[in-house]
Amino acid sequence: MMRLPNDLMPVSYLMDEDTRALYITWSDGHESRHPYEALRRACPCAWCAGEGGMKGSVDPDTVFTDQQTTLYELVPVGRYGLTPVWGDGHRTGIYTYERLRALCQCDECRLLRGER
Ligand SMILES: [Zn+2]
Ligand SMILES: [Zn+2]
Repeated sequence: MMRLPNDLMPVSYLMDEDTRALYITWSDGHESRHPYEALRRACPCAWCAGEGGMKGSVDPDTVFTDQQTTLYELVPVGRYGLTPVWGDGHRTGIYTYERLRALCQCDECRLLRGER
């Protein structure tokens, strides 16, 4: 399979139950870190994030249950994204690779985005 040099995509991932975080290794060598709760809060689906001016059901103050923030499985979506399947069965959020990288919570990326 041919791949363009700038075609950034995950090459492997690890769902770590101990730290409750998803770790993705990318084709450029970066390892991104995604705590389950932050990942769940960033769910881009219409129900969570809202759509067409309608407010979604998830905001920065939403309190999740353990089930809602337990990553059960990752399902590939075409060649551009992933859908997490959560412990409560929620599985409508499509996270594009671009969005996933932008959500990386590693120290390096947080610093680059000016977060503390
Ligand atoms: Zn959602
Ligand atoms: Zn990062």
